[in-house]
Amino acid sequence: MNKTILEINNVDTYYGQIHALKNISFEVKEGEIVSLIGSNGAGKTTTLKTISSLLKPAKGEVILKEKVISRIPSHLVAEGGIAHVPEGRKIFPRMTVEENLEMGGFRFKDINKTKKNMDYAFELFPRLQERRKQKGGTLSGGEQQMLAMGRALMSEPSLLLLDEPSMGLAPLLVELIFQSIQKLNSEGITILLVEQNAHKALKIAHRGYVLQTGSIVLTGTGEELLQNNMVKEAYLG
Ligand code: ATP
Repeated sequence: MNKTILEINNVDTYYGQIHALKNISFEVKEGEIVSLIGSNGAGKTTTLKTISSLLKPAKGEVILKEKVISRIPSHLVAEGGIAHVPEGRKIFPRMTVEENLEMGGFRFKDINKTKKNMDYAFELFPRLQERRKQKGGTLSGGEQQMLAMGRALMSEPSLLLLDEPSMGLAPLLVELIFQSIQKLNSEGITILLVEQNAHKALKIAHRGYVLQTGSIVLTGTGEELLQNNMVKEAYLG
C-alpha cells in the first residue's frame, strides 16, 4: 500500500462571508493521479489554493508527508515539495521562456541543478526549447501551459497541483498535456488534477473526488466514477 502524501482533514475555507469549502476531507497517496471534478464554483480552485497555503483554512488541517502545512507561508509549502500550476497559467509575460523556467527553480541557487531541470522541461516539451528566447506573453495558450508546467517542474516537486491545464486548448494540445501528465506520473510525480474535462481527467486518474457547492459528494476509482450515473449525467454530457 502506498503511503499517503497529502491529507486534507475537515477543511473549511471562506472568502469573507462566502463559505467556499465545507468540511472537506480527502487524501492523495504517493504515485497516484487523483482528479477533482465539479461544476463552476464548486470549490476546486479554492481547494488547490488552500493546499498551497495561498488561502488559509478557517478550520481543519492540510498535512503533507505527516507535517501540518495549513497556515504556513506558501513559499515553505513549495519547499516541502508541492508545486502549483494555477488556473490561467500565470506565466511572466515579459520574461523569456528560459527566464520563466529559472524563476521556478530559484530556490536552488545551483546552476547545475537549474540546467538539469531545464533540460528535463525541454525534454518533456521540446516546443519550449525551440521558443526559449521568446517572451512568455507571445506564446500560444498551449505553449503557455507547457511553460507553466515546466516552471513548476523546476522546483523538483513530489506533488504537482494542476488547475484546469486543458482549459481553452485545441484537441491536439489537450491530448499532449494529458500525455505529459501521465508521463510525469510514470516518472514518480504524484498529481492532484482539477479539470473541467471530467472524462479525460477520470480516464487517467487512479482515483477521483466529486466536489459540489463546497462539499465532496462522491469518490471512487477513475473507472468507477466514469461509470457512475450521477457523474455521467452531471459531468460527462
Ligand atoms: P471554476 O471552475 O469556475 O474556477 P471552482 O470549482 O474552481 O470553479 P472556486 O473558484 O474554488 O470554484 O470557487 C468556489 C466558490 O468561492 C464560488 O462560490 C466562488 O464564487 C467563490 N469565490 C472564489 N473566489 C472568490 C473570491 N476571490 N472572492 C469571493 N468569492 C470567491
